[in-house]
Amino acid sequence: MSNIVIIGAGASGLMCAVQLLKSSHNVILIEKNEKCGKKLFITGKGRCNLTNYSDVEEHLSSIQSNKKFMYSSLYAFTPYDTVELFNSLGLKTKVERGNRVFPESDHSSDVIKVLKRELDRGNAELRLNTAVSRLLIREGEKPEVRGVLLAKGEKIFCDDVVVATGGKSYPSTGSTGDGYRFAISAGMDVTALSPSLVPLNSPDEDVRALQGLSLKNVSVTLKDGKKKLYSDFGEMLFTHFGVSGPVILSASAALKPEFFERPLKLHIDLKSALSLDELDKRLIRIFEENRNKEFKNSLASLFPSKLIPVMVERSGIKSFTKCSDIRKEERRGFASVIKDFEVNISGLRGFDEAVITKGGVSVKEIDPSSMESKKVRGLYFIGEVLDIDSMTGGFNLQLAWSTAAAAARHILMSS
Ligand SMILES: Cc1cc2nc3c(=O)[nH]c(=O)nc-3n(C[C@H](O)[C@H](O)[C@H](O)COP(=O)(O)OP(=O)(O)OC[C@H]3O[C@@H](n4cnc5c(N)ncnc54)[C@H](O)[C@@H]3O)c2cc1C
Repeated sequence: MSNIVIIGAGASGLMCAVQLLKSSHNVILIEKNEKCGKKLFITGKGRCNLTNYSDVEEHLSSIQSNKKFMYSSLYAFTPYDTVELFNSLGLKTKVERGNRVFPESDHSSDVIKVLKRELDRGNAELRLNTAVSRLLIREGEKPEVRGVLLAKGEKIFCDDVVVATGGKSYPSTGSTGDGYRFAISAGMDVTALSPSLVPLNSPDEDVRALQGLSLKNVSVTLKDGKKKLYSDFGEMLFTHFGVSGPVILSASAALKPEFFERPLKLHIDLKSALSLDELDKRLIRIFEENRNKEFKNSLASLFPSKLIPVMVERSGIKSFTKCSDIRKEERRGFASVIKDFEVNISGLRGFDEAVITKGGVSVKEIDPSSMESKKVRGLYFIGEVLDIDSMTGGFNLQLAWSTAAAAARHILMSS
């Protein structure tokens, strides 16, 4: 019988502990917060999009960093296995738009509840309000993990330590990046960390004037000079600092801080359902119907009111021009501005607002089928602490579940 310490009772730590209950090992799950799953609780706007009901290939194609590394563990514990496991634990699930899986109750707390109930049934010991301050490692030709030192000074000796401390995003939930420090102390590499699935800053004054405006069905393209970095269609929001909303968060996944040596440009097609010619025909009709009105007073059928002054300003057409006096070149130029509303992007927002952390414990130093460190025997890293990240849609939690299952399987097999 082995003694196993899991550091962190978030998504991956809870899943790993639950999987280890199949054995008679002593499992100690250590969580620095007063309760488990604080971040899980806020996932999916409190509904927890716990996975994406699609095949492994779909999950692999959503991964932004180190797809290949995830191949083995995703195939060994698939998104369908996740749903089956949660159903078997008594959580009813439903599949929504884009194959997103949620608890039928729409309460993330139910996801935590079934995991916690399973823990209580088994022989795992959960220590809340307990922070691990460092790893205990026996040096040698192949170093071995010996246990952990708690912040309170107590040492816990064990055979295996699973680091499930999460990333650096939303640090108020407990994920303050401790796992990176643990990895470095074990002689392992941690790649550059940056916020991802995060809103974007813009220096543009007129963008700031649009704060609070949400746009549906827009097509956005993010470019670095001529190079296209991301392109998609969906919903976005203007804020006091720049831009946010689902399609912007997804676009941020393609970015790293070093991309911002010069501002990037976001190109928004405000009328993506219309071609340039169709839009021009619509403008002809609008200007004809409003021929005696001033330009600035003719646009209510095209844009929400907040957007009108900005569009008038960007059109280059004088606001008081009578619609009947607008020239063809002016109209066509205006159509182009509508199809390509440019926003300068100066950087990513911070970790406090990021759904996930890009970068982490280098996967070159981790065995992909077991999540065990190649440098230190008995030391495992699972979940967001690893240098893996994926898109929104339940894909990130699947990374946490699959890596947790891989570590548990290996611990069960090797003891
Ligand atoms: C607002 C928001 C919404 C999200 N929504 C979704 C979603 O709907 N679907 C999806 O797939 N993903 C979502 N994510 C991402 C997802 O929550 C994470 O990918 C996932 O929680 C990572 O799991 P983890 O176990 O690695 O880390 P966490 O869940 O962050 O757990 C880490 C735990 O370790 C504990 N800990 C850290 N250091 C120590 C220490 N030294 N000692 C003891 N304990 C420690 C922390 O307190 C924490 O409880 C969302 C993220 C955010 C921020």
